[in-house]
Amino acid sequence: MKILEIVEKIAVEEPRIVSIVGAGISKASGMPTFRGEDGMWNNYSAMELATPQAFAKDPQLVWNWYKARMRILLKAKPNDAHFALTKLEKAGLSLGIITQNVDGLHELAGSKKIIEIHGRIRYARCTSCKHVQRWDKDEIVNERDSLLYCPNCEKSLLRPDVVWFGEPLDPSKSEIALDWLSHCNLVLVIGTSGVVYPVASFPSFAKENGAKIIEFNIESTPLTPICDFSVFGKCEENLPLFVEELIRKIEKSKSG
Ligand SMILES: [Zn+2]
Repeated sequence: MKILEIVEKIAVEEPRIVSIVGAGISKASGMPTFRGEDGMWNNYSAMELATPQAFAKDPQLVWNWYKARMRILLKAKPNDAHFALTKLEKAGLSLGIITQNVDGLHELAGSKKIIEIHGRIRYARCTSCKHVQRWDKDEIVNERDSLLYCPNCEKSLLRPDVVWFGEPLDPSKSEIALDWLSHCNLVLVIGTSGVVYPVASFPSFAKENGAKIIEFNIESTPLTPICDFSVFGKCEENLPLFVEELIRKIEKSKSG
């Protein structure tokens, strides 16, 4: 269905939108896969490195991998899909963004209400105390074979502030996400295949609370059957169009 038709058909006068975002949104941000660097990480999988066990066994190996990923991420920029969501927020139409991405590109695009449900790769946190700091700086990222230590409690290791395989999600983040989802009337599912739980269950939770669901994905996904509307193709092209049309429709209804 065409975007214009979808916007016409959405019967919500005052949209309260929650966006559920996955890796598909960041594809157009110039991020090659991290396998690219030196080829040295080809023999490792994320399942082997992004775990508490891997960090306990060899924190240097894990940090070297995160630094390699960060060297690539530092070259990435938000794309038009990220900026479209910022525009939605500035227009007062967004309750917030729930993202599975750890890349921090929503923040760089200027969005404020963001729940990074799987954590934030640009931040490190202390393994002993509550200290959190950014580490996405050239001087840290380019220093190979060194660990990061907490400035508060000496000798305590810092670790990436992300959710590793086998770790629970932060319950306070899930709580805010569910609060948004129970108060929204429109959900945008963007660039996510909808297979990773619990995020995969969020659209149907919102739907049960009366929200309409629109997906922006490259092709159909396991979530497609529960969506009211599906827009297939590049989200960096379709999402800005949708946001523009929606804002136009609302401004028109207000002035009329
Ligand atoms: Zn500490």
